[in-house]
Amino acid sequence: MKKIALYWQILIGMLLGVIVGLALSQFTWGSTFVQNWIKPFGNMFINSLKLIAIPLILGSLIKGVSDLKDISQLSSIGLKTISFYLLTTVLAVSIGLTIVNIISPGKHIAEETRTELLMRYAGDISQKKIDAQRHIESGPLDAFENIIPENIFAAASENINMLQIIFFAIFFGVGLILIPENQSEPVKKFFDSFNHVILKMIDLIMIAAPFGVFALLAALVTEAPSSDLFIALGMYAFSVLLGLAIMIGLYTLSVWLITKRSPIFFLKGILPAQLLGFSTSSSAATLPVTMERVEEHLGVDESIGSFVLPIGATINMDGTSLYQAVAAVFIAQAFGMDLSIVAQLGIIVTATLASIGSAAIPGAGMVMLIIVLAQAGIPEAGLALIFAIDRPLDMFRTTVNLTGDAAVAMIVAKTEGKLKKVKR
Ligand code: ASP
Repeated sequence: MKKIALYWQILIGMLLGVIVGLALSQFTWGSTFVQNWIKPFGNMFINSLKLIAIPLILGSLIKGVSDLKDISQLSSIGLKTISFYLLTTVLAVSIGLTIVNIISPGKHIAEETRTELLMRYAGDISQKKIDAQRHIESGPLDAFENIIPENIFAAASENINMLQIIFFAIFFGVGLILIPENQSEPVKKFFDSFNHVILKMIDLIMIAAPFGVFALLAALVTEAPSSDLFIALGMYAFSVLLGLAIMIGLYTLSVWLITKRSPIFFLKGILPAQLLGFSTSSSAATLPVTMERVEEHLGVDESIGSFVLPIGATINMDGTSLYQAVAAVFIAQAFGMDLSIVAQLGIIVTATLASIGSAAIPGAGMVMLIIVLAQAGIPEAGLALIFAIDRPLDMFRTTVNLTGDAAVAMIVAKTEGKLKKVKR
């Protein structure tokens, strides 16, 4: 019998998760059952993905950098990567702003719905405000200062310090390039084998993926708010989703035009990672799978993928920046504010920076949205308006975030002559 493709297995898992979650939430005992007996399996799955993230970045980035010919090749790849990432983020924000200005979802929200949402979710946003405050209080160069860890083991003890690990790995790789071949060889060989082990571990984790997403979605469905909120906020959600869909179209088109790889090839290759991003709402947790798909199924050489993708997971969040732009203007519209062109240009800058600063974990984009709101003088209380449907939108924007990383990885690989043919 032919084996069912991984993305089908994951899709079936997701679908069954939604069905079982919906069915069980009809019973009073159902939600507790899901929380106690199904959700933990979802968490175990996410934990195992997170577990692999730091060893994977360390191993593959050191190997990837040390495989480069010289330092100038590294800086050329670095420059291209950062430029493409900035370009796609600014494009995403601009698309978001255009859509939200045309559709004007905030003007369709009824007075009672607004008051009800503001009252119901006002309490929930206070923690987010505290989290955002921490970012606001930091100095202008803090983000750069923090990239250099003072202790590699301390840095490796928190998944959130991904940029620090990336810094160490690149630095170590540079050292490795600069020493004589006979001295670097054993270390390179070690990291090569280390990498193979990690990749095998990812393969093993992926066997559990259909069950993992089943558990994650069943739990999510039982925790979801009532559907009338979705309808009230429908125009807003539609604006975000439309923008995200356009982004996926643009990535596919750019990959097609620049790398000559067909849309089907690209989308089929990245689909399992997209489905996991959707189910986990975390590009950091999905990173191991994104790397595996991009390197083994989309043909990006390891020396490029291991560099472009971990950096992308931390700083390139096109879906998040687009959502932040739409949400900020939506809230302004709902409060009857008219944002000037200057204020909207300001949103392009702050949403770009805020998305770079957002952690690759569920809900991070919403915390950073507070900064965008504050800069534009939009009332933070408006966060309560979008709180209820943030999680479903988070699932979609995370999918876009990692698809953007994959597209840029392919384009950078192509320009460096490091895009291989993939045997099917
Ligand atoms: N959950 C998103 C991610 O991990 C970040 C966000 O927009 O909240 O990419």
